[in-house]
Amino acid sequence: MAGPDFERPSDFIRDIIKEDLKTGKYDGRVHTRFPPEPNGYLHIGHAKSICLNFGIARDFNGLCNLRFDDTNPVKEEVEYVESIKEDVSWLGFDWQERMYYASDYFEKMYEYAVRLIETGKAYVCDLSADEVREYRGTLTEPGRESPYRNRSVEENLGLFARMRAGEFPDGSRTLRAIIDMASGNINMRDPVIYRILHAEHHMTGNKWCIYPMYDFAHCVSDSIERITHSICTLEFEDHRPLYDWFLDRLSVYHPRQIEFARLNLSYTVMSKRKLLQLVEGGYVGGWDDPRMPTISGLRRRGYTPEAIRNFCDRIGVAKRDSVVDMALLEYCIREDLNKRARRVMAVLRPLKVVIINYPEDRTEELDAVNNPEDPGMGTRKVPFSRVLYIEREDFREVPPKQFYRLSPGREVRLRYAYYITCVGVVKDDRTGEIAELRCTYDPATRGGDSPDGRKVKATLHWVSAAHSMEAEARLYDYLLLKADPDDVEEGKDFKSNINPGSLETLTSCRIEPCLADAKPGSGYQFERMGYFCVDPDSTPGKTVFNRTVTLKDTWAKIEKKK
Ligand code: ATP
Ligand code: MG
Repeated sequence: MAGPDFERPSDFIRDIIKEDLKTGKYDGRVHTRFPPEPNGYLHIGHAKSICLNFGIARDFNGLCNLRFDDTNPVKEEVEYVESIKEDVSWLGFDWQERMYYASDYFEKMYEYAVRLIETGKAYVCDLSADEVREYRGTLTEPGRESPYRNRSVEENLGLFARMRAGEFPDGSRTLRAIIDMASGNINMRDPVIYRILHAEHHMTGNKWCIYPMYDFAHCVSDSIERITHSICTLEFEDHRPLYDWFLDRLSVYHPRQIEFARLNLSYTVMSKRKLLQLVEGGYVGGWDDPRMPTISGLRRRGYTPEAIRNFCDRIGVAKRDSVVDMALLEYCIREDLNKRARRVMAVLRPLKVVIINYPEDRTEELDAVNNPEDPGMGTRKVPFSRVLYIEREDFREVPPKQFYRLSPGREVRLRYAYYITCVGVVKDDRTGEIAELRCTYDPATRGGDSPDGRKVKATLHWVSAAHSMEAEARLYDYLLLKADPDDVEEGKDFKSNINPGSLETLTSCRIEPCLADAKPGSGYQFERMGYFCVDPDSTPGKTVFNRTVTLKDTWAKIEKKK
């Protein structure tokens, strides 16, 4: 096994860990965890946290646990647990045998809560949720102590046992810590430790009708698993004193909590609550809709784990919140697919072309390169015949300035094939729409080069009409119209910002015959049209492609401007 990898670019968290290793703080151990709540599918923000936690374990010969933070039975589902496992594995990380649930520790947590009561650090409070809120005070005003705060240890023990036994209705009582109702940090004003909730839990069934609150469950779980560095997002910075308070008062093993800035991406939303609204409201086809910033959506869209990991490396880890440009994510997938995706020809919006001087009964097999970036990927044969399709937008009857593609009388190159010249335009009598082009080809230009050095200004992609197959292409745009999801009129929410044109479906595309047995998940570059990936919706009769990303790199431009 390789030694600790100090060569990788560092960040403030890795710096802390190196220092702890130097001083022997945790006996040289590094043990992190990724603690998702199974109340939704993972998104690209979670990928940042996964890459960080599992990446640190890898770099320092440590361990990383997968732990489901399942303390809220109402919102959690087994479907989410399964999807989370699939996504973490797909990203390339391995928790080995260390998959845990916070609910594994409910008994221990109960025992710890009893210990807090016994040492005079917790009490059963009969205030309602509204009253607790009212007593809590505000950022500028201190809170007031609950009238139940001075109950005896015996009374508290008895009531807490009865809470567990199911004697009280939901919300009627809570167990609270005795800390400081005047604390400047509201989290420290006698926070709730346990609440009553008669709900079935996906793991523990009906065994429990009291559930621990996140702040208590989280630090206790970290402690039980002997985590060394408990890495979480910045909004938990104000919760750290409470994290420390619980573990100190319990006198148990104490990991160190470190906060980092969460990932925000432009033109999308990231909170699971909002993503759930998109799914339930039918704004998208599901959690794995290719427009979603979920890992499963990105996977279906054609993103690779390598591209996502690379993205997470590039954005780095910092202490201050920021918004990352979606163009950077797109840059990362383009860079990856440029190296690995096979290039093929597909016509998204076909326009028929008849080569009038090409024999009707002839078919030629022309050589095409699979990926100029990687000669090892070889070549293939592409059939050429008298009737072809080209991209409708590659022809203009009256070409504007700077339009160098096909127009009447003009010669262009068909990639890997011949030079052709447009000699006629046939229109639909009724609609006036262009129905087909009449062209001639120059047999001397076979392969796409002119022996007399004649230059053309454009190279078009094409497919043979008789040999190509029909396909569907789904083209995607950003989910939101504005970079900032919350940039909306007063009284409205991010949903008023949804881009109505985020999906365009083209149903009569034509693809090269080599794509006949393309498997769901496989990615290609459609020359000049972008990177595409086969969707699971494909049927034997019709392959469905998702456009992963266009070929236009907007990130390079953004970088240059800076
Ligand atoms: P959301 O706000 O999207 O619902 P969450 O924080 O409630 O997310 P959890 O399931 O609790 O979701 O998150 C699991 C882990 O992933 C936590 O450690 C959390 O800090 C981290 N995480 C969540 N969102 C992001 C993000 N946008 N960037 C980085 N890390 C994140
Ligand atoms: Mg959470």
